[in-house]
Amino acid sequence: MTTKDLADLIFPHVTMTVDDLEKRYPKRDLPIGAEVTRFAPSPTGFLHTGSLFTSLVAYKVAKQSNGVFYTRLEDTDTKREVEGSGKELLDQLAVFNIVPDEGYYGDSQKGNYGPYIQSERADIYRVVIKDLLIKGKAYPCFCTKEDLDALRTTQEKNHVTPGYYRQYAKCRLLTLEEQIAKIKAGVPYVIRFRSEGYHERKIEVNDLVRGKLFLSENDQDIVIYKSDGLPTYHFAHLVDDHFMHTTIVSRGEEWLSSLPIHLELFSTMNWQAPKYAHLPVIMKLDNGNKRKLSKRKDNEAAIAYFLKEGYPQEAILEYLYTIANSNYEEWHSENPNLSFDDFSFTFSKMSQDGALFDLAKLENISKELLARYSKEKLYDETLKYAQIYDKHLEEVLLKDPTFFKEIINIEREKENPRKDYIKFSEILPKNLFFYKEEYEEMFKKGLPFNSNFDKKIIYDILNEFMNNLNFDEVDEQTWFACLKSLANKHHFAENNKTFKANKDIYIGHVGDVAEMVRIALTTSKQSPNLYYVLKVLGKNEVIRRITKALEVLK
Ligand code: GLU
Repeated sequence: MTTKDLADLIFPHVTMTVDDLEKRYPKRDLPIGAEVTRFAPSPTGFLHTGSLFTSLVAYKVAKQSNGVFYTRLEDTDTKREVEGSGKELLDQLAVFNIVPDEGYYGDSQKGNYGPYIQSERADIYRVVIKDLLIKGKAYPCFCTKEDLDALRTTQEKNHVTPGYYRQYAKCRLLTLEEQIAKIKAGVPYVIRFRSEGYHERKIEVNDLVRGKLFLSENDQDIVIYKSDGLPTYHFAHLVDDHFMHTTIVSRGEEWLSSLPIHLELFSTMNWQAPKYAHLPVIMKLDNGNKRKLSKRKDNEAAIAYFLKEGYPQEAILEYLYTIANSNYEEWHSENPNLSFDDFSFTFSKMSQDGALFDLAKLENISKELLARYSKEKLYDETLKYAQIYDKHLEEVLLKDPTFFKEIINIEREKENPRKDYIKFSEILPKNLFFYKEEYEEMFKKGLPFNSNFDKKIIYDILNEFMNNLNFDEVDEQTWFACLKSLANKHHFAENNKTFKANKDIYIGHVGDVAEMVRIALTTSKQSPNLYYVLKVLGKNEVIRRITKALEVLK
């Protein structure tokens, strides 16, 4: 009996060979230096912040080298699958303009190297596994869960490295006759790889992020084919990355420890392994300790959270670039008018340690970015956000686009624009008072005038302010000069410093006067620049609001 008999018994219908597959998936015709990268998610849930990071890196590397970026759904672990999540992942990537050149697209697939869904590639894996069986590099394993538990207990007792290898690999020692007899008798089995490695020996590997590393050889006879007829990740990714001609596998650093398995598999197949880049995991500080972002505990683990909160996708990407490359920030400040699409990413400038997720930094990036948007762009982007996440905001935006644009244009589109907003969701709440109905509601809750000043004084100042309105005729400076003289007339100093030095002469300073006007117009002590608030509200509305305020001050 030969290994061919065993292979034919296990896969009687597999007639294709590895050579046939090589012909089916010929080398890609790409320019020199073009990289083929991929995002290979398992459909186990939502788009994790770390997954957006890895896919961004893979996408960028392909694009900047005129290569190909594709997506592959790794759904061989059917127990962990969450229905519909494969599509959702791609939809969310598309929000970030990360659109694959080929791959699975949720409902469809595109490209010459497919199928791009692993569960549809079972026949391809079987061809390669049959080849390994024929070459004696793989064998059926009949061990039950109980057998494996017993093995572990013995290994623990004897203080030897746990696992299925060498003398502990019971089924590796079976003769071909025994294997064939068991299969014929219907004993359930999986297929294992026959490792030739020794844990004590080191191999040199070159990781694009980490440089040269010395790792222990693999010696484990890992399962490559499960009893459900599908391969494991280790084996499936190998076959796929080979036939899809991936040049760089960029993936989370949690896979680094299994790299020796993958490299041994590649060399057993006589295939050239792709380059590997193991990317740092995004971490969080928890009580002073660094830990991975957790799906269950941390909002920041899900990209959907940031989108729902209203962070612009551009800010999220820019933030991820600061994690990806240590020189990104410097490059960005030297080239403020370029976008990250113009930035040249390099693996060697990536930090090797888990990057800490820094919300304050993301907020800062977001603030700077939103301040640079034109009013038209900010309106459009806010509307896009509202259409998905906030129906009320959408109504407000559509009802009076011009008014909304005037509001958001306050101190925008100039050299040093005001940095008011971190996210789309806070624009309306910060500006509610501009809207008449909202103002009425806020007015009912009372006006928070400073109780240090007599009501009569506030009344007189507001009254005079209203009767001398000139903001629509003059520039901001002249208007403010008028406000100062109004303040002076009522014994308020021109500025805080003069007031502090002359408390016997003055009751307050011009800031207090501005606050009175602000409160009357907005019901709040904080607002955008008062001069522009007046302009956006317009004379009639200003008079109406101050008159209302005067009534309560009487
Ligand atoms: N399916 C694997 C994961 O989701 C992919 C790892 C890889 O990119 O090879 O972690």
